[in-house]
Amino acid sequence: MKSKIPLFAAFQRLQKITTKSTGLFGNPVLSTPDGFQKLTIDVENKAYKLVDQIINKTGPKDKPTVALVDDLSNVICSAADLAECVRNIHSDGAFASAANESMRIFTNLVETLNTNTALLNALKKSLITESHLLDDTDKRNIDLFIHDFEQSGVGLPDKEKKEFVSLSNEIFHYASIFSKNTDKPSLFTEEEQKEYGIGPLVDTPYPHIADPELRKLFFNRFYQHSDEQEHALRGLIGTRHMLANLTGHESFAHRAQPFSLLGTYENTIKFLEGIIKTFSNTVEPELNLVKEAFHGQKVELNPISEWDYSYGSSLYRQRLFGFTGLLSKYFHFETILCGFEMIVKKLYGIRFETSLPINGEIWDGKVIKINVIDENSNLLGTIYIDLEDRETKLTGDCHYTVRCSKELDNGEFQTPIVVLSLDACDSETEIENLTLSPHMAETFFHEMGHAIHSMLGRTRYQHTAGTRCPTDMAEVPSNLMEFFFNDMRILKLICKDSSGRSIRDDEAEALIASRSLFSGVETLQQTHYALFDLLAHGPEYAPMIANGKITTTELFAKIGKKALPQIGRGENVAWPQRFSHIGPYGAKYYSYLVAKASASLIWEKCFREDPFSRKRGLAWAKVQSYGGELPSSDLLGIALQKAPIATDLCQALHSNYSRNMELIKDSSSKM
Ligand SMILES: [Zn+2]
Repeated sequence: MKSKIPLFAAFQRLQKITTKSTGLFGNPVLSTPDGFQKLTIDVENKAYKLVDQIINKTGPKDKPTVALVDDLSNVICSAADLAECVRNIHSDGAFASAANESMRIFTNLVETLNTNTALLNALKKSLITESHLLDDTDKRNIDLFIHDFEQSGVGLPDKEKKEFVSLSNEIFHYASIFSKNTDKPSLFTEEEQKEYGIGPLVDTPYPHIADPELRKLFFNRFYQHSDEQEHALRGLIGTRHMLANLTGHESFAHRAQPFSLLGTYENTIKFLEGIIKTFSNTVEPELNLVKEAFHGQKVELNPISEWDYSYGSSLYRQRLFGFTGLLSKYFHFETILCGFEMIVKKLYGIRFETSLPINGEIWDGKVIKINVIDENSNLLGTIYIDLEDRETKLTGDCHYTVRCSKELDNGEFQTPIVVLSLDACDSETEIENLTLSPHMAETFFHEMGHAIHSMLGRTRYQHTAGTRCPTDMAEVPSNLMEFFFNDMRILKLICKDSSGRSIRDDEAEALIASRSLFSGVETLQQTHYALFDLLAHGPEYAPMIANGKITTTELFAKIGKKALPQIGRGENVAWPQRFSHIGPYGAKYYSYLVAKASASLIWEKCFREDPFSRKRGLAWAKVQSYGGELPSSDLLGIALQKAPIATDLCQALHSNYSRNMELIKDSSSKM
């Protein structure tokens, strides 16, 4: 297959338009940092006006209450989401701190409204008094809003409500101290520094070092116990458990599951235990490869330790496939962006208009702007990509929704705005010269999968637009783009060096194969983490952790013996104290595995045969356009003709694994 895209096509359009400064995201109020104050006051006024209309029924006659509640949510979210993005990644500290202050006020506002009983009652009442105005979409949104209210303790008697607020504050407090220290380097002693000729900082558990003693030292020091972290984690899990009990749930892990694809705590356990069973026979062959890599070296292999496994697997990978990082010459950012555009053009009939943001529209830095246009020349939405890795960015590679899609009163749609933040280059690099590592290119595909999900959103309400759906479903479109990325036909099309020459077959094959190698062990490691996250928040262990009857380290080791007994790591590895996801994803870390399995089913059924099928593409675009308007199982049911259950998902992961193994065999036999 030959590419029709000329190299660097996207950037011929990359011209800076110099006009007078517009405000952030085109909002003139946000031309200066103090604009955030004006924005905040404006949002508060609009919000309370809507609250009044909802409670006193003074809004437009034929507009259902749920639509007004969504307007209220939209007024707050489109300002709060913007402030959240700005405070995390704006390159000017004055803007970031102004946004941070707004965020504090918005958080308070949301908390106050979420505990407003009159709002909840108005919604509940509307189910009866407005039944003639409501269809399924309205009813689902009412359910979701009521659920959110109830999660905030609004229905509780006054005494419990107070307890709820104080528990929520404690959870917030513990989560923020915990997350501050998950990346904090550990230290070597002066004697150790002298003995091994190394610096003081231990910032990774897996250094690429040939000395097995030193590898062990790095691993154990990185994961050494910290009283402070254990205290924060115990506090977080304990207060979450109390909050769950207070709101009538058996545990926080139970409370986290409604609206998820698997639906219940028990199904989720079944899914994770199913993976352990299905994947148990994948470990031995993979460990044999690692042992092969250590041939002739003095390393304890029975059982192998985690630090040696990590080093040995990367040795093996390098020996078999060479250093795939050298393939970066094919991952020129422009060609990858053009390649991505070509895929979505073929699938969904949408195109990109790429430009540099105009003055003040976005912060200073390496940022490009993409307007996403459909076949009828309608603007679907806007994606900003901030490529610069800088100190002022608080978060790594991620996707911010700044404004959601929503049907407006005049029948038009509010266009979504998203920002992708990638740590892809420093401030000196010209975007035109930027190349990505293969891993970063795959991350780019993942994050763009989220962005396009938002662009395709065509929901009546912003509350369910685009990625605003349950976590597991929200990760399906992005995981699916990783399947596109790791396909031979796609790589051949999108990977070109500076003279326009495509990546060679053997290089592309090696790249895909090297990324799939050891995926059996990797899946079991992820399952171990997911099961820990779930059980630590579950009815049996959460109270034990809270009372100090078991430490998170002990629970982690106990689950490890079940999930991956073939790899040793000792009993005292305080891995959970570094598990940053436990804060934001509490009891839902497993969602990634569900999403990967679901994406694999969709890839197999819809795109593997023809990854450019417009018919299949449009059908999948339709599914994405619902956002969270339909339950996740209905959405997957539409895409796959049958909603998958726990055993299907588990099987899907294993089939994917087996296909990868075939590929590795093919690729390595050609070496
Ligand atoms: Zn994601």
